[in-house]
Amino acid sequence: MNLQQTGPAPGGPPEREAALGLYLHVPFCLARCPYCDFYSTTRLDRRGAYTEAMARAMALAPGAGRALDTLYLGGGTPSLLGEGVLSLLEAVRRHWRLTEGAEITLEANPGTVTPELLRLWRQAGVNRLSMGIQAGSGPELKTLGRIHTLEEGLAAVEEARRAGFENVSVDMMLATPGQTAETARELADLLAGLPVTHISAYLLKIEEGTPFARQGMADRCPDRKSVV
Ligand code: SF4
Repeated sequence: MNLQQTGPAPGGPPEREAALGLYLHVPFCLARCPYCDFYSTTRLDRRGAYTEAMARAMALAPGAGRALDTLYLGGGTPSLLGEGVLSLLEAVRRHWRLTEGAEITLEANPGTVTPELLRLWRQAGVNRLSMGIQAGSGPELKTLGRIHTLEEGLAAVEEARRAGFENVSVDMMLATPGQTAETARELADLLAGLPVTHISAYLLKIEEGTPFARQGMADRCPDRKSVV
């Protein structure tokens, strides 16, 4: 859990001045991607206990009771909470005041969303989805250890729009094993044709201690300059 002042400097209107941004980390993944060094666990049986503990921690958090204009559920894979996202939102609303028009983002893995869940999250107030598409071909996704196909990623974006999400952001990775300037450009063009509001492109960094580092995967990655 991380709180940040997001409103303008002191001296502004009280509601805006007091606005905070809240980040909630949801540390669950269906499988660990071999390049990732974020904290997460595949112990999905702990999700309920974690959500309850998070709700209890909110009562003690500094800044509880103040206005929030940004709420971000990141991970891990927050979409793995499924209906549990609603419990977290309820807890947030109990302990903070979400301002009118507050941005509420959920990070989602395309392999974990369903039309029903998307509708449920949207109705509960989530108004921005951040979807990790990451790569443009089956072999690239497999090397990255992703649990979804490209087709599932594209379908999830369309489904999110049908569920009422007007603000959908997608992520792609650059300089991954086997990627070329051409495949990177093809994926960027494909994503640009989707009904999304934002595309984030991240350079892969091989972090110490990850399976990719142990496998010497840096040798299979293209020169960053060749794909940027
Ligand atoms: S799904 Fe995301 S958080 Fe989980 S292991 Fe893969 S990259 Fe890391």
